[in-house]
Amino acid sequence: MKFWSKSSRIRLEYNKKGKQMADTLKKLQCPACGKEMEKVFIPSQGINLDICTQGCGGIYFDNRELNSFDEKNEDISKILEHISDKNFVDVNTALDRHCPNCGTKMVKNFSSINKEIEIDECYNCGGKFLDNSELQKLRAEYDTEEERSEDVVRHIYQQVGQELAQVDERYSRTITDRSICQKIFYKLLGL
Ligand SMILES: [Zn+2]
Ligand SMILES: [Zn+2]
Repeated sequence: MKFWSKSSRIRLEYNKKGKQMADTLKKLQCPACGKEMEKVFIPSQGINLDICTQGCGGIYFDNRELNSFDEKNEDISKILEHISDKNFVDVNTALDRHCPNCGTKMVKNFSSINKEIEIDECYNCGGKFLDNSELQKLRAEYDTEEERSEDVVRHIYQQVGQELAQVDERYSRTITDRSICQKIFYKLLGL
């Protein structure tokens, strides 16, 4: 058992290539319900995830771990083994949460422009917390990470595009108004 923990940690450090390390072997308290989270080793990624199997079913991902599980083609069977067919306690998603790794107050961010899924993020250590079933919803939103980013760009473009059109319309109206004024002015002067 000791060897298993040690080897998984070495692999974790290797995977992150010098990124800020979280002590993933430390038992974490769930930021949503306060229960101790279970360490779940994911062999395909060589990492440990913290899952609230005894409380609310939330999952804590440190640093960039979520990137390995948020696309449809990425394997989450090992995670599902621990959360499927279980009754989890309800939590108030509106309450403030603190990062179980470093204690910093987490920030709520929407996972996409659709604003359906809120992810709690720690801006200090990069940790992310997903409530029960949010990972599955997140994966259903887009096929790939590229599609998720493209949707954001498309949305911003639509908004900016509309504003530009309005500015343009206002600007050309001003020019028309001025030319009418000019005509009246010239008429008065008899030119
Ligand atoms: Zn919990
Ligand atoms: Zn943190």
